[in-house]
Amino acid sequence: MVAMVRRKKPDRCSLQVADTPPRLRGTPKRLASLSGPVTTIVKKCPTPGCDGSGHIFKRCHTHYTASGCPLHHRKRRNRSGRVLPPKLSIDVTSDNNDISTPRPLSTPHITRLDLIQQLISPPFGNHGDQREPILKGLATPTEIQLFKEAQRKAKNKESKLKHVVLGEHQMEVWFVSQFPSVATLHLCKYCLRHFCSLATIKLHAASCPWRHPPGKEIYRDHMISIFEIDGGQHQSYCQNLCLLAKLFLDHKTVYYDVQPFIFYVMTQYRDGGCHLVGYFSKEKSSALNYNLSCILVLPCYMRNGFGRMLIEFSYLLTRLEGTTGSPERPLSDLGLVSYRSYWRDAILDHMIQLKEGSSLSIKELSKQSGVNTDDLVSTMQRLGIIKYCKGQHIVLHDKELLDDYVGRCKKLKSRSINPSCLKR
Ligand code: ZN
Repeated sequence: MVAMVRRKKPDRCSLQVADTPPRLRGTPKRLASLSGPVTTIVKKCPTPGCDGSGHIFKRCHTHYTASGCPLHHRKRRNRSGRVLPPKLSIDVTSDNNDISTPRPLSTPHITRLDLIQQLISPPFGNHGDQREPILKGLATPTEIQLFKEAQRKAKNKESKLKHVVLGEHQMEVWFVSQFPSVATLHLCKYCLRHFCSLATIKLHAASCPWRHPPGKEIYRDHMISIFEIDGGQHQSYCQNLCLLAKLFLDHKTVYYDVQPFIFYVMTQYRDGGCHLVGYFSKEKSSALNYNLSCILVLPCYMRNGFGRMLIEFSYLLTRLEGTTGSPERPLSDLGLVSYRSYWRDAILDHMIQLKEGSSLSIKELSKQSGVNTDDLVSTMQRLGIIKYCKGQHIVLHDKELLDDYVGRCKKLKSRSINPSCLKR
């Protein structure tokens, strides 16, 4: 039951009872008289839309009259064109809804994005030459540490190395290796140790006792020698060789784990020493019957038939082992071109030696050349000289192809492996 009671003129905030629980706006206020029945009084501000919270003089937290109503005065000021003070905001959903504590003026909500924009805009965003942005207050220490780690890795990828100098040859670098990030790197032409300056390489060259690669020289034909190097015995040299190779090979991944490999290093003798031309590596024991893992001819020696000689030498070793082999995949673009050329010539060379009326056995050809049968068949298919007819494969005798091979053979003979020069 609600009774209307004539309200005495209250002194300021006289209805605020000490030690009473906080009252949410819009809830009825219960007043307890000292004696007699409890009466419920509902008082409401007459201003339309006002819930009775706040006070024009900010001395109280509630009001009942238009004279104490902030909304009433705001409307009046708005009509007169004056600038209005910021509206009091009360968050009824928050825990801090105690009306006994002063309510702060509402401030614009600053989002994380606003904070970032403030940091990157002057004067806060001017970091000078530092790469690292100011992340204080935006990320946890773990996140900052992860960011620094990623930044360090990204920085390492941007290698400054543009040229490598090996003896009298200066070569442009094609890919990133694990060498120091300097513009020009100097390598000793014999031991392959790297130096960052011309002065240090000159000092080293004056005292370097090496004149040829380590290991055993197993092939010598005039000026060309091939050294067999065990990766386990000459680890440092083989690692330097792999790091050098990575500058020119995209797919190369082995740098330091060189123990399972044997390296065959081709050199050219001049000026009293054996100068590195190229090399190939081979697994000591290959489960997949690979006879070559990685092959490289230095750019300054390319287009001189040395790559083909290395491939030929790898198959010579395979034939001596009494097996057939194939190079490890994936092959580089230049490696694939060289191998396809070598396989084609191995087939054509065998076809030329065939007598009229005799048949060609791919297995026999594989045994004689050391080339895997899959590589032989795929090469024949690419040349278009193998057909399937009436239940059997037929190899076509392409005279034009054979004549072209005979013409090229005369040039190739000057750059080929002579099996009799192998020292075993
Ligand atoms: Zn040296």
